[in-house]
Amino acid sequence: MANETAQADRAVRLDGVSKFYETQAARITALEKMNWSIGGGEAAALMGPSGCGKTTILNLLGGMDRPSGGEIWVSGENVAAMSERQLEVYRLRKVGFVFQFFNLIPSLSALDNLELPMLMAGVKPEERRVRAESLLDSVGLKAKGFKRPEELSGGEQQRVAVCLALVNDPPIILADEPTGNLDSHNAKVISSMLIDLATSRGKTVLVASHDPKVVEQFPRVYHMRDGAIQQVT
Ligand code: ADP
Ligand code: MG
Repeated sequence: MANETAQADRAVRLDGVSKFYETQAARITALEKMNWSIGGGEAAALMGPSGCGKTTILNLLGGMDRPSGGEIWVSGENVAAMSERQLEVYRLRKVGFVFQFFNLIPSLSALDNLELPMLMAGVKPEERRVRAESLLDSVGLKAKGFKRPEELSGGEQQRVAVCLALVNDPPIILADEPTGNLDSHNAKVISSMLIDLATSRGKTVLVASHDPKVVEQFPRVYHMRDGAIQQVT
């Protein structure tokens, strides 16, 4: 029962979500009254051509942008109704985000990059270092903690970025084209790592990609086109 509750808490649901972008020339409809959900602990890929709305969905789920209408339920909370302050806390604690371009601060070492969001979340210094070291160890980078991003390969940087998404132990991991800047070997390593977060650690993982080779590794694939899910495989 407790486990069932935990699973329900992690579920992600879009209820009638619309997103319009206003530009000088036109109003662009990215999503219109979209209904969609993924289960708690699922490793899901969101696949579709460029422009179909994948980033829009991830940004809405990540609390980085607001919908034009509808409700976005994550971990039992309606993200669409949160205040700016609530969104800040949500982004820090409830979701971990992995981006295409690694998103590490260039002047900081890998360890310091990982400690920064813990500092913001009020984690004590000793614990910050222990957690950061243990995360780097878990992705095989224990020896590289004092290296800055430019001293690491692309694959290594993205492994640090996956750790960064995990530092505050959020239930939801969102990744937007996380392998878009990697060769096929490293793409596989990162995809497997993301899938493993769901299977071994019970996280809900959603990865947007337009690369069929990446997507086919995921146990569930949502195929998106023109702002709607067309098929689930
Ligand atoms: P994807 O990630 O699948 O490539 P996006 O979510 O980025 O798709 O884009 C969905 C649609 O919304 C596209 O038509 C895109 O051009 C448009 N769009 C996305 N962001 C903006 C923006 N900031 N301003 C105007 N239009 C945008
Ligand atoms: Mg995109």
